[in-house]
Amino acid sequence: MTEWEALRQECLRCHACTLAETRTNVVFGVGNRNSKLMLIGEGPGEQEDLQGEPFVGPAGKLLDDMLSIIDLYRRENCYICNIVKCRPPRNRDPLETEQDACIGFLRNQVALVRPQIIVCLGRIAAKRLIDPEYRITRQHGQWVRKGDFWMTAIYHPSALLRDVTK
Ligand code: SF4
Repeated sequence: MTEWEALRQECLRCHACTLAETRTNVVFGVGNRNSKLMLIGEGPGEQEDLQGEPFVGPAGKLLDDMLSIIDLYRRENCYICNIVKCRPPRNRDPLETEQDACIGFLRNQVALVRPQIIVCLGRIAAKRLIDPEYRITRQHGQWVRKGDFWMTAIYHPSALLRDVTK
């Protein structure tokens, strides 16, 4: 079994936080594992939980459309995943403790993909991965160098669907 498959299997079996009790599927991630670009959101929503894939449903469609404008496609040249791999009930923000329990999977995914660029999708991911004080309204689109990566954050596609003035 490859290192990647071992990680995925471990994640699919995980019960390290209470989100395991209410999930339908673990949403590990999707895309090319050798991509230069990783896109990271906060956690699966209803459709993602049902289908076992991140960013499906209306927000995922918007994300795919945005990516296609710059010739990026989820199954070809980018990798998409979330901070937590199981859906928080009623789409609430993932708790700090849930993020802490799950972040190891993401760290391992990043280590295996070895991207050059990480784009955080939304406030929660930006706070967790770039800066706890991150202000998405003021800082979205700004690039920062962190370790081996260039990082930025954009509004979460769900937020864009809720407020088209963003
Ligand atoms: Fe495990 Fe992460 Fe799911 Fe919690 S959210 S049960 S830590 S895979």
